[in-house]
Amino acid sequence: MEIFNYGFGVVNKWYNIAADLPAVLPPLRDPDTGDSRIALLTKILPSALIDQELSAERWISIPEEVRAIYARLGRPTPLVRAEGLERALGTGVRIYYKYEGVLPVGSHKLNTAVAQAYYAKADGAREVATETGAGQWGMATSLAASLFGLRAVVFMTRSSYASKRQRVIFMKTYGAVVYPSPSDVTESGRKHYEPNHPGSLGIAISEAVEYVLSGERRRYLPGSVMEFVLIHQTVIGLETISQMPEEPDVAVACVGGGSNFGGFTYPMLGAKLRGEGFEKTRFVAVESSAAPKLTAGQYKYDFPDAVGVLPMVKMYTLGHDYVPPPVHAAGLRYHGAASSLSVLRKLGHIEAMAFPQDEVMRAAVFFARAEGVIPAPESAHAVRAAVELAKKLPRGSVIVVNVSGHGLLDVDAYEKVLAENL
Ligand SMILES: *Cc1c(COP(=O)(O)O)cnc(C)c1O
Repeated sequence: MEIFNYGFGVVNKWYNIAADLPAVLPPLRDPDTGDSRIALLTKILPSALIDQELSAERWISIPEEVRAIYARLGRPTPLVRAEGLERALGTGVRIYYKYEGVLPVGSHKLNTAVAQAYYAKADGAREVATETGAGQWGMATSLAASLFGLRAVVFMTRSSYASKRQRVIFMKTYGAVVYPSPSDVTESGRKHYEPNHPGSLGIAISEAVEYVLSGERRRYLPGSVMEFVLIHQTVIGLETISQMPEEPDVAVACVGGGSNFGGFTYPMLGAKLRGEGFEKTRFVAVESSAAPKLTAGQYKYDFPDAVGVLPMVKMYTLGHDYVPPPVHAAGLRYHGAASSLSVLRKLGHIEAMAFPQDEVMRAAVFFARAEGVIPAPESAHAVRAAVELAKKLPRGSVIVVNVSGHGLLDVDAYEKVLAENL
C-alpha cells in the first residue's frame, strides 16, 4: 500500500482527500452581491496554496525545506500507547494517542504555518499577516515566519490580548508585531477603535486582510478550514499510520474548523475509501457543545469568516454570525467545518459527538493523572470522547486519539474543575 512506503514516521508527501472523495468537492463560491471574494483570495494568499486548494492530486510533495524544518522542530511526533489511561479505565480496550503538543508552539498548527510561510516566501513576500483569538495560530505563524526571515503581523482580539499575555510574549519573542484588535493601524480597525472594545475574530480578520492588501509583498495566512490547511496537517495521520502497530477500530479527534481532525484521520479514511485498509475503522469528530455545527448545524454555503471577507464554502455551519459562548477551548469556538469534512459527514463516513466544557475538563484531569500530559482544552474533547468509546466498545478494541496540543498555557482552565475536589 502506497502510504506505508515512507518508512517509520518519515513523511515526504501530504495527502489530499479530494482525490478519493465519493463526491466532487463543492467549489468555493462568491455571494450574489458585492466584490468577488474568490478574486480577493488570489490577491492575498500565496499562489501555491490556491493551487492546492483546487487540486485533485492525491499526493502533494512536501518541499525539501519544509521537511527539514519539520524534522528540526520535532517531527515525527510521538505515538504513545496510553497504558496509564487503559489501566485507569480498566475496560480492556487498547488506546493510543498521537501527541502534537511536543512541537515548540505546543500544537499542530505549526504544521501548516511552516508550509504557508514557505510558500509566502517563494512568492516573494516579506511579511505575513493573520488574525488570532486565543493565540495558538498567532504563535504558530510567528515562529514559522521567523524561520523563513519573514515579518509576522498578528491582529489579536483585544480581550485575548489582555487575558493571554503569555501567548503575546511568545509571539513577540519570535519577533512578531502583535496588535490588539480593533487596532488603529487599519481602516477596519479604526471603525471600531476604542480602548475597551473586546474585539472579535471578524474584525481581526478584516484587519489582517486589509493590511495585506494595503502594502507590497505581503501575504495572508489562514489557520484552519481551507482545504490546503487540512492537506498540510495530513503529516499527522501519515506518521500515525506508519507508527501504529495495529489498525484502530476508532480514530478520534476534536474539531474547530477541522484541520487536526482532517490531518489525523484523512490518510486512514482515504485508504478506507479506496479499499486499501482500515475497513473496520470508524472516524469520530468531537466538537464543543458551544459550537456544535456537525451535530446541530445546517449543510449549506456560508462564509468561513465572521464578516464575509472570504469566499463562501459549502459546509456544516451555525451561521457565520453565530457567536459561540466563551469556553476554555477557544480553538473550537468556530461556526463551521471544512468543506471536505462536511461532505464526508453528510455522506455518513464521519460520526460526530459534542461535549460540554465541565465533562471535557474532568476528562482532561483524568488523562493528565493517567498519562502525565496536560492536554489543551481543545484536545481534551477528543480525550473525553475516547473515554466514552472505551467504555462502550468490546474488550480488545483499539482506539487512536489525536492530542492536538498541550495545555501548559491553559492551566487556568483547569482551576475550576480542580476546585470540585476531584
Ligand atoms: C486551533 C486548535 C484546534 C482546533 O482547530 P482545528 O483546525 O479544528 O484543528 C484544536 N486543538 C488545538 C490545540 C488548537 O490549537
